[in-house]
Amino acid sequence: MSTESTKTGSGRVGGKIAVISGGASGIGLATAERLAREGAKVAITDVDVANGEALADRLTAEGHDVFFMKLDVVDPASWAAVVDTVVERWGGLDILLNSAGIGRVYPLLEMTLEEWRHTNAINLDGTFLGTQAAARAMSVSGGGSIINISSVAGLVGLPTASAYSASKGGVKLFTKAAALECANMKLNIRINSVHPGYIETPMVMRRFKDVEAEAADVQALKDQHPIGRLGQRDEVASMILYLASDESAFVTGAEFVIDGGYSAQ
Ligand code: NAD
Repeated sequence: MSTESTKTGSGRVGGKIAVISGGASGIGLATAERLAREGAKVAITDVDVANGEALADRLTAEGHDVFFMKLDVVDPASWAAVVDTVVERWGGLDILLNSAGIGRVYPLLEMTLEEWRHTNAINLDGTFLGTQAAARAMSVSGGGSIINISSVAGLVGLPTASAYSASKGGVKLFTKAAALECANMKLNIRINSVHPGYIETPMVMRRFKDVEAEAADVQALKDQHPIGRLGQRDEVASMILYLASDESAFVTGAEFVIDGGYSAQ
């Protein structure tokens, strides 16, 4: 759902330097496109090398200054390598989007400890490691904005998604604590969380594999949102763009909900 203004941009993050985790798909991909078109230099990172490189090639062909680097968010050495590469190449770091995540469902009575840990490792540990690596660089280069993707599942409980809800609730309060710590140290580093409802990305849509089941199941999901539809990744990218830009200079430690009214019920 790109509009003409999202395609061309008006330099709202002109000259800024960004890293995006989970940039090969969904919300991360839409944000990579948006930040690049709004003038940022963007390092796209993901474990999905094929789609990450394809996006970087496409944006480079459009004339943007971007590159892809493989990053597994659970690996501290990978984070250090990405941040070092970006600082060496472009001279600093202004924006980090922690979008990498997995959305598996596990019934409580059957979930194994490994499944619980896997979800929390990627969604919560990965967000901590990214925030720490970026904040270290930003504290040297004069500040920046870190945006952590939580979920409505970080605000209210989702049945069969207790590991996911725990990880996203963790992201919400980790964000606040880290934001306060950076503010207290006067580092000029802002950290905020974004809480989407169900957004039409591969994470959500891959569960509707069976065409027969698809229409009814997708409708049932839409009906959970008072506004009557699923969200679009570009709509989330718009919120992230605001938080990444200097327009949000007085915003830190805050929760930004974008859920068509899901959590207002
Ligand atoms: P997506 O599946 O389209 O994209 C997620 C990306 O993360 C993929 O490219 C994947 O390869 C990458 N990834 C997974 N594990 C990784 C790892 N260990 N290291 C690096 N990259 C890894 O999903 P999406 O819908 O764009 O989700 C993005 C974020 O938004 C996630 O944190 C998700 O939990 C959150 N979220 C999504 C929705 C939704 O409805 N789509 C709602 C609320 C929150």
